[in-house]
Amino acid sequence: MPDKVKFTDEQLEQVISNYYAQANSQCPNCNARLNIVCGEARQLPKWFSIDCPRCKSGGQIADKKYLNNRQWTVEEEKAIEDAYWENKSALCPIDNSVLVIQERSFAESAKGYLSAACSRCGNALDTKKERLP
Ligand SMILES: [Zn+2]
Ligand SMILES: [Zn+2]
Repeated sequence: MPDKVKFTDEQLEQVISNYYAQANSQCPNCNARLNIVCGEARQLPKWFSIDCPRCKSGGQIADKKYLNNRQWTVEEEKAIEDAYWENKSALCPIDNSVLVIQERSFAESAKGYLSAACSRCGNALDTKKERLP
């Protein structure tokens, strides 16, 4: 088995991206599945502690996606909405994270609405809100 190593920032970034995309991450050193712990959620940027239970490699990283996030554009929000209704899932156009989406309906309306949020970059949308043209 390989000796314990410290993961590079690039390796740690990839692990976090997989985490938000709900994909598995394997240890770059020995291919074992990794333990990923997200630090205090209210603290920004979020901190992640990542370690391999097998070879004991690992590292810690702040998620920099929080520091330079931008707002979703109107076109991106429209694409998220379409993707959800067509496939029941959607990805964040900025960081490819799986979005948390809730379908909502209101008695006074014949239409269904969505609320969608990215837990990584913090963008959110609510299609019930009137959008400016
Ligand atoms: Zn390992
Ligand atoms: Zn995002």
